[in-house]
Amino acid sequence: MLISMKSGATDNDISGVMNVVQSLGLRAFVSKEDKYTVISVIGSGTKIPSNYFTSLSGVNEVVDQENVYELISKKYRKLSSGLSGNIEITVNNVVIGEDTPVIMAGPCAVESRDQLFRIAGEVKEAGAHILRGGIFKPRSSVHSFQGLGASDRSKAEEALKWLREAGDEFCMPVITEVRGESQVDLVAEYSDILQIGARNMYDQDLLVAVARTKKPVLLKRHFGAGVKEFLNFAEYIAAEGNKNIILCERGIVPVGKGNDFTRYTLDLAAVPAIRTETYLPVIVDPSHSTGRRDMIYSMSCAAVAAGAHGLMIEVHYNPEEALVDGAQAITADELKKVIKACNEISRMVNEENRALN
Ligand code: PEP
Ligand code: MN
Repeated sequence: MLISMKSGATDNDISGVMNVVQSLGLRAFVSKEDKYTVISVIGSGTKIPSNYFTSLSGVNEVVDQENVYELISKKYRKLSSGLSGNIEITVNNVVIGEDTPVIMAGPCAVESRDQLFRIAGEVKEAGAHILRGGIFKPRSSVHSFQGLGASDRSKAEEALKWLREAGDEFCMPVITEVRGESQVDLVAEYSDILQIGARNMYDQDLLVAVARTKKPVLLKRHFGAGVKEFLNFAEYIAAEGNKNIILCERGIVPVGKGNDFTRYTLDLAAVPAIRTETYLPVIVDPSHSTGRRDMIYSMSCAAVAAGAHGLMIEVHYNPEEALVDGAQAITADELKKVIKACNEISRMVNEENRALN
């Protein structure tokens, strides 16, 4: 339930509402950072009739869309700021959610300091904005390389330090995956953005834990999740008061013989759907969705045409020798071409895409 306060509402009015919320045993937080004050009541379910708060002093409007991702909805944005567009998330020197697509690039997995620094330098040169690199890898087989984080905590920390140093050296914020709650504090110490992988989209406890670090979170869509379900899980992060959420479409389970050709099915229609529903920026990962380097260029262009605010792309100087996901990695030279085309496409379609807001 969202309770929007009148512009002249006093602190007393706000505490009046909060007292009633608390007396009902519910959790709520007040957001004053925007133009208007909005009180978000979490978990109200069917317990309170929707007109319960309307008569309280200072209350302007009560919106109760049961079981809906209210906190990340366009309605919330309208109530809190009077605006209808998406938010921009600033991470150091990079803004995610503007017209120019933000490029997150780097190796699937950090394999060594040299490998990471070489790729970091190359992707920076190609025009990438944010450096990616997996340290705790989600893998389908226990026998494959699990990422340097798997060995022990000190190796994990050493690799995280390399990522931090590479980001600092090449002036790029860094992003890496947090695979479990026990890794949250360690990863948050070194990474600017915390990535929740597709397999963990449903892990409520992990979502709450990353949200509480107050760092920006990149949430990937589970390959079996509908768009609504995806947004419902993003709401868990927002419900901890952290709205710095970047959504990532990375492909869904293919139908029939679909994966004879691609690893997953890239659901590009999810991009405008998400942009219509929420004010959060949305990016696309053409690497994991296709599993094929020969499709990265075309799918990146298509993603930006569909309104993606950015891309996450795996890059390696020698994809054949990558320990993980070489088949879908491109070189930095190829990345440069992708970025050039995507910038041109975004200039062409920006006006149309803004209409999605
Ligand atoms: C990744 O980005 O490293 C990754 C494992 O992606 P996903 O969670 O989308 O499979
Ligand atoms: Mn990968």
